[in-house]
Amino acid sequence: MITATLFPGKYIQGCDAIAGLQEWVRRYGRKAFVIGSPSTFTAIVPRILAAVQESVEVVAEPFERECSDEEIARLKSIAVAKACDVVVGVGGGKTLDTAKAVAHEMNVPVIIAPTIASTDAPCSSLSVIYRPDTGRIKRVLMLRRNPDVVLVDTKIIAQSPERFLVAGMGDALGTWFEAESCRLKYAKNMVRAYSSMTAQTMARLCYETLLEYGLAAKTACRQHVVIPALEHVVEANTLLSGVGFESAGLAAAHAIQDGLNALDKDHRYYHGEKVAFGTLVSLFLTDKPSEMIDDVYDFCASVGLPTTLAELGLDGLSDADIAKIASIACAEKETIHNELIPVVPDAVVAAIRVANEEGLRRKNAQ
Ligand SMILES: [Zn+2]
Repeated sequence: MITATLFPGKYIQGCDAIAGLQEWVRRYGRKAFVIGSPSTFTAIVPRILAAVQESVEVVAEPFERECSDEEIARLKSIAVAKACDVVVGVGGGKTLDTAKAVAHEMNVPVIIAPTIASTDAPCSSLSVIYRPDTGRIKRVLMLRRNPDVVLVDTKIIAQSPERFLVAGMGDALGTWFEAESCRLKYAKNMVRAYSSMTAQTMARLCYETLLEYGLAAKTACRQHVVIPALEHVVEANTLLSGVGFESAGLAAAHAIQDGLNALDKDHRYYHGEKVAFGTLVSLFLTDKPSEMIDDVYDFCASVGLPTTLAELGLDGLSDADIAKIASIACAEKETIHNELIPVVPDAVVAAIRVANEEGLRRKNAQ
């Protein structure tokens, strides 16, 4: 049995970690191409430029909204014209996926500096490419390698709105449940290999870290301060969940998020918020014990992750709408089939209804 575990080259995290960026840039290239989300160009990017320019040349370009083939081609052409030999991505998931794709196309190293901890995208070796006109997923680009350096400054993360951190916890919440299903089923991970005990242990630690430190981390983020609990949760959201999902595999939670995502027309809700609800659905779908169901609902309620469809803007769904979510989640290539039991759309419909009703019941009992 062949196992495969994928890691970023280096993972560096801490308060003021961004101060070390110039050193990392210097190790990997002579001329850096910095791609930053537009919001980072007011404060973070100028600070980075001031520091990095002391040792290497830098070209900076704002990311224009969508991680699309067109945007990747635009950024690549600028980087090639300026003879840049290392890419630095600064921002959230789509900016970072774009930076990873640009570096892949140029075959140069990439340094990733997340400014929010809302998904587990920073460490992975894939970029999700969207269609610029509809905002729908076009394809998943498998990269040659994981990012060379992931540099997470928790002081910057603590300045971001807490909803991002909480959404990251939602994305991370599914990781262990999905990893465990894949382990028991002998289902393969994102690179078509089996998961190692390292990845499985990281996924388990991810779950335990959320339950132990999630609420304190959210409180710290609300206060815009860094405490050890915030450090632990940022590490869980970014590194543990990143290695966990890619190397241990996905299952029901992400497939159900795909179904929910299809009905979230305005994309007002984050990936991790939908994964959290998908995880709740998966608990009933896969017949988990009541204590575990209690733990996960209590956790979601404590940090403010959705436990009802209404909290995802999906109240008053028709039977046909719920059937649509289930049918997308059960599409032939979906990861829901990594669950131990054979999954059919009717079973998913039933689990969605029960998960939502249980969320409502708990809210009414408060
Ligand atoms: Zn995810």
